[in-house]
Amino acid sequence: MRIDIITALPKLLESPFDDSIMKRAILKKKVEVNIINLRDYAIDKHRSVDDAPFGGEAGMVIKIEPVFRCIESLKKERTYDEVIYMSPDGELLDQKMSNRFSLLQNIILLCGHYKGIDERIREHLITREVSIGNFVLSGGELPAAVLADSIIRLLPGVLNDETSALSDSFQDDLVSPPVYTRPAEFNGWVVPPVLLSGNFANIDKWKHEQAVQRTKERRPLLGK
Ligand code: SAH
Repeated sequence: MRIDIITALPKLLESPFDDSIMKRAILKKKVEVNIINLRDYAIDKHRSVDDAPFGGEAGMVIKIEPVFRCIESLKKERTYDEVIYMSPDGELLDQKMSNRFSLLQNIILLCGHYKGIDERIREHLITREVSIGNFVLSGGELPAAVLADSIIRLLPGVLNDETSALSDSFQDDLVSPPVYTRPAEFNGWVVPPVLLSGNFANIDKWKHEQAVQRTKERRPLLGK
């Protein structure tokens, strides 16, 4: 899979892809992540990518020309399944959406900044809009990293134990059961004895019951 992220602030996206699972996925060539500097597609010598909004509001708006030129040049090289704008009012990201995106070949993630992006970009160049929640961040870079992470960890061969993404929260519309590690007792606080029993049928049953119970308490509407 290939994920191209278009941003006016590429430095904001350096570290998320430079450690842990995402870095390994890139090194193992399970995914190619390209951070593309929108300024490289500016049309003036000051490399500006934003301008004041029509109608006299405060803030700056990402201009259409650099975005158009950038997306056109990417599309000349390959076909994209989706061109996604990260937007507070987009479709709300959930596990099912990440699962579906993980089956795609090539996607573009466009990060807005400042006041947002010229509406004509959304009308004519974007195929999907994704929000990571009903709150406003300063830019689309963190949301793009969140979306990319949720997709990349699902790609085959990315997680060491391939089944572990399947037992994560929200797969099967359940949240995860609690997990424990050594020591079995700390400060008098003990691990549930069933986990130490070695009886894997009982352990699986316990985990499932815990997941169902937690889902009822914490996410009663999941899957409904
Ligand atoms: N004025 C806009 C907010 C712009 S925030 C509004 O009120 O809707 C600047 C940029 O941050 C946006 O263009 C978008 O790319 C990104 N962004 C902010 N919050 C986000 C969220 N919850 N999900 C996805 N992207 C978000």
